[in-house]
Amino acid sequence: MNTKEFVEKIKNGEIDIVEHTENVIDECKKINKEYNYFNIISEELALAQAKEIKRQIKNNDSIIKNKKLLGVAISVKDAICVKGVESTAGSKILKGYKPLFDATVIKRVKDAGGIIIGKTSQDEFGFGSFSVNVGLGFAIPKNPFDKTRSCGGSSGGAGGITQKASFPHIALGESTGGSIAAPASFCGVFGLCPTYGRVSRYGLMDYANSLDKIGTLGKSVYDAALLLEVIAGFDNNESTTINKPTEKYTESTNKNIKNMRIGIIKESFANIDKNVGKNVREGVKKLEEHGAKSEEISLKLPIEHGISTYYIIATSEASTNLAKYCGMRYGISEKLEGNFNEYFTKVRSNNFGAEAKRRIILGTFARMSGYRDAYYIKATKIRAMIVSEYKKLFKKYDALVSPTMPIVAPKFSEIEKLTPLQNYMMDIMTVSPNLAGLPHLSVPVGFDGNMHIGMMLTADHLREGKLIQLGNIFNN
Ligand code: GLN
Repeated sequence: MNTKEFVEKIKNGEIDIVEHTENVIDECKKINKEYNYFNIISEELALAQAKEIKRQIKNNDSIIKNKKLLGVAISVKDAICVKGVESTAGSKILKGYKPLFDATVIKRVKDAGGIIIGKTSQDEFGFGSFSVNVGLGFAIPKNPFDKTRSCGGSSGGAGGITQKASFPHIALGESTGGSIAAPASFCGVFGLCPTYGRVSRYGLMDYANSLDKIGTLGKSVYDAALLLEVIAGFDNNESTTINKPTEKYTESTNKNIKNMRIGIIKESFANIDKNVGKNVREGVKKLEEHGAKSEEISLKLPIEHGISTYYIIATSEASTNLAKYCGMRYGISEKLEGNFNEYFTKVRSNNFGAEAKRRIILGTFARMSGYRDAYYIKATKIRAMIVSEYKKLFKKYDALVSPTMPIVAPKFSEIEKLTPLQNYMMDIMTVSPNLAGLPHLSVPVGFDGNMHIGMMLTADHLREGKLIQLGNIFNN
């Protein structure tokens, strides 16, 4: 049963929402024992919401008529604040933190009748591409098709549960440099990252403010579009949200793609798994069969310099954002002793994982006086050049195509052998659309053995509708 049919059945009272939600929670618990997709399953909240919906249905409340997510299970990346539910961004330093408020996206999901089922596992604060950089004491999510492999990251739990759930479910993820696309690709689901500013970041724990975006993961394009439709739009609490009307994104699933123009990014096929390249090319063929027109294009600067630009900007912002976790106002505290520097050092040494520490050091260095011009300022200039290279192409093309990741989901034993630089290089295709704030969608296009392969479509700012239109071809 798809989400649309499910919502209708809930509205008509054909499915008992409380019983259904109890089953959903049971299934999540079972899956979690084997796969570690949740840091917390929010059973109490989910059941309270279900009971309230049941009451409204019984009373025949008119308000339920327009609720687009009525009864649909929504999982939430741990970095997004849910009132009263432990929210840690996957970090030990935030253990025990229960927000006193809902992030704007959560408020909108609740208003639309979505049921919050839990907080999904992730790389600590979003620092990673494989969800192996979870915080101290957190469990690593495992690929739904092979437990010895990664789910992708940093929204790994979101990708895994989206694939594994047998019930109608959509995930809220977050991307700074590819954290929605990567897990979508490795888990064989659709991952939709919107234009920067299209969705409010109010209540999202920052990784890098100029890059962070909340987006959606679904088993179908329709699901990903539906949740985006609910969460998108201007927010008084968030000054970077775009004050322009949103679209009915789900309606784009009904449009054909005749004569849409696709640019195939030539450079993105170099140095990747052969099978990945082959399947993505077949994906392009499929778009052509439906009437799209494609040709090869070059995107030199973003592919050559995206990684270095991204990692300088992202770590610079991350290192300032993490300064607040010093064990006093924010985050876990330890026994107060020594002077402030000693205390601050102790709290952070004991409670940040290795990758968070690496990024604090890297980011602090890149923006230090004496180095700032050579690194941080230079990266911001290259970023502007990357944006204009994309903008030129979007005058001619509706969307650009590349593989999402250069490989299929790697084994944990292979990830262990990667150097930090090799690790960062995995994001070669995903970082640049993020640097430019462009919407992108990863769609499953094929397999290598039993591992999924993802293709990424990138469109111009605020053209999420086009991505949904094109991505819809790849629904099973
Ligand atoms: N892999 C990238 C990084 O480690 C992107 C992560 C993200 O989008 N949160 O920064």
